[in-house]
Amino acid sequence: MFGFALMGAIEYLESGELSALGFLTHAFCTRRGGVSRAPYDGLNVGDLVGDREEDLLRNLNLVKDAFAIPDGRLILMRQVHGDRIHVIDEEGPLPERLLECDGLTTDRTGVALGIRTADCVPLFFVDRTRRVIGAAHSGWRGTALGIAARMVATLAERFSSRPEDLLAVIGPAIGPCCYEVDAPVLAAFSAMPDAGLFSRPCLQKDRWMLDLALANRLQIREAGVPSENIFSAGLCTACRQDLFFSHRAAGGRAGRQISLIMLSEGGCIKKCLTSGNSWV
Ligand SMILES: [Zn+2]
Repeated sequence: MFGFALMGAIEYLESGELSALGFLTHAFCTRRGGVSRAPYDGLNVGDLVGDREEDLLRNLNLVKDAFAIPDGRLILMRQVHGDRIHVIDEEGPLPERLLECDGLTTDRTGVALGIRTADCVPLFFVDRTRRVIGAAHSGWRGTALGIAARMVATLAERFSSRPEDLLAVIGPAIGPCCYEVDAPVLAAFSAMPDAGLFSRPCLQKDRWMLDLALANRLQIREAGVPSENIFSAGLCTACRQDLFFSHRAAGGRAGRQISLIMLSEGGCIKKCLTSGNSWV
């Protein structure tokens, strides 16, 4: 179950199952609540999209303030559509520069893992027993490389997480209604036996509609996470440009929304300002 909530001026989507855990803060932020101007209006956090630097910094500060993220503890990535996952454990230092990777995981409290997307799939992972979290950026390349399965494996190797203890949450991304791909993209999935489940041919020759969220769900299930532990927002970024940035729908000139997850020291900091969440 997913619902919209407000933190300050920031409107975000949250998973009821993650909120119920009580030991973390998480948000799939929408584009609403920031200061950027069109076509990056308003809560753009993308630094390479052409937005004004001062607006980007203000937006990031709004996010840190709204979700009570300590100074220097919002960890973002230089996402490169790969499958590398960086582990932030208790002993190691926090990264000081943007790391070239597409996944982050940590068992440290007060460290927020951030993903920036505008159609690609943001993924959260939570080991509810060992209290470890992961965040991954999974576009078609990352999905074809298997970054979601790699996250399950990394959590097992580094934190002894068992797949059955994991919850996985798939955030808003471009849906099978809008994500048309060509033959080279489809070919990247040819090694996956269930590719027929998440792709279907268009009327137009050599074109297919791809369901990236479903591809990730199947991959996470294949990695051992029970189906009932995998939750998908089911919202299409291209259909809902009123809520989200969509690179495809905006013809390439789009901002990036942020999805963040953080283990919190004193339990969940949630202070929902809406009179009642609208669950979808
Ligand atoms: Zn759509």
